[in-house]
Amino acid sequence: MHRVVIVGAGFAGLSAARALVGKPVEVTIVDQRNFHTFQPLLYEVATAGLDSGDVAYPIRAIFGKADNVTFRFATVTGVDWDRREVELDGHAPLPFDSVVVASGATARYFGIPGASEFAFPLYTLTDARRLRDHVLRRLEQADSDPALAPGGPLTFVVVGGGPTGVEVAGALAELLDVAVRHDGFTFERATGRIILVDGLPRLLTPFKESGAAYAAKTLEGRGVELRLGRMVKSVTDACVNLDDGSEIPTRTVVWAGGVTVDGTLASRLDAATGANGRLAVNDDLSLEGRDGAFAVGDAAAVPWGPDSDHPGETCPQLAQVAIQSGKHAAGQVLLRIDGKPTEAFRYKDKGIMATIGRRAAITELPHGPAIHGTLGWLAWLALHILYLIGFRNKIIVLVNWSWRYLSWGSGPRLIVGEEPDEDEDAAGHGTTLLG
Ligand SMILES: Cc1cc2nc3c(=O)[nH]c(=O)nc-3n(C[C@H](O)[C@H](O)[C@H](O)COP(=O)(O)OP(=O)(O)OC[C@H]3O[C@@H](n4cnc5c(N)ncnc54)[C@H](O)[C@@H]3O)c2cc1C
Repeated sequence: MHRVVIVGAGFAGLSAARALVGKPVEVTIVDQRNFHTFQPLLYEVATAGLDSGDVAYPIRAIFGKADNVTFRFATVTGVDWDRREVELDGHAPLPFDSVVVASGATARYFGIPGASEFAFPLYTLTDARRLRDHVLRRLEQADSDPALAPGGPLTFVVVGGGPTGVEVAGALAELLDVAVRHDGFTFERATGRIILVDGLPRLLTPFKESGAAYAAKTLEGRGVELRLGRMVKSVTDACVNLDDGSEIPTRTVVWAGGVTVDGTLASRLDAATGANGRLAVNDDLSLEGRDGAFAVGDAAAVPWGPDSDHPGETCPQLAQVAIQSGKHAAGQVLLRIDGKPTEAFRYKDKGIMATIGRRAAITELPHGPAIHGTLGWLAWLALHILYLIGFRNKIIVLVNWSWRYLSWGSGPRLIVGEEPDEDEDAAGHGTTLLG
């Protein structure tokens, strides 16, 4: 039986594996986590809107009934291209006939001093839970001593004005509203500041100008301060410094500044790289110069493909690109087994979306109108529920969102870490940040 190893169970790896269920191949999915993460909703976990289990799903449960798919819980350290083996940390290597690299990306800090040390990335479930604990601790800290507020416990700086930054900023504003209105916190809502910083002069660059203007107006209407056209120069344990010389005292910097494959498996594969260091692939998504190997999703410089809207360009790092490229790579594996020629990938653009919070979102269809406001928000809700993995998660998220919408009620505002997070000094007064 032809052995296929799929590295990574994100959108791309899952999509590849699903396309191979029931086919005459033996599939092994390897992931360093035993669950799939629905990254587009991580910001909801970070801002106590949803719980961790609502946006993650065990990989074994997804493929439990598929006879030809197995899961290996391990970290891939490299690929031995001569021996045709995937190398694992602490396990015997996995031999393959075909391999699909779908190892994703990681947060990008642009070498800004202090950013990787003191800012909170939002890329994994662990990141989201850590940020939630930290934010909730800041609220408790400000409540216990409101005099601390000018020092920054209630100032949240979000770096990056793309969809993730906009979503986080909007959700933090709602969290502060709900905390003051329903949780009995005694500090003034006005002492809580959310500041969104971006080096570009407008928000949401992939979106139309009208969508960016709508997002800016809505965020400002919800109390978010925008510092656009301002670069972050450095992040310290107590402040963010901007290129206009200003300093923002803060205990919380959320990093939504983009992603990179630097430092991930893709950069250690001894394979050619393309746009932004992503793995260079041919039209059919095969890895250049590596027989029987494919790269997909965020890890790869996936081409839009011939006859697409942007021939010759590289696709953005989006869930739809990952899903479509993963499925395409699986199809190419089967074509090769049948001795047939492979086919070029062509990305089908289904549009882009971003939400700013309750009843406010932007949905832009590729050749249709841009939808802002409640209708855009409903479209955003429906699509996210549709793409969530697992029936249970779809139902739970639907119920949670409906409940919160109707009642302005509670999300899981739980500090679950056993220990105080690193940014608290021994006395718990938070005089240092992230230690
Ligand atoms: C906060 C956030 C919000 C987003 N919001 C949106 C959105 O609203 N809409 C949208 O379209 N896109 C969004 N994206 C982008 C989208 O989530 C990604 O494009 C998509 O997840 C990429 O899928 P992937 O399978 O390539 O990588 P990932 O989903 O990152 O999956 C990679 C997998 O590989 C595993 N892995 C990595 N290295 C190893 C290793 N060495 N060994 C074993 N396993 C390994 C990881 O554990 C992970 O499970 C968002 C991303 C983030 C971070």
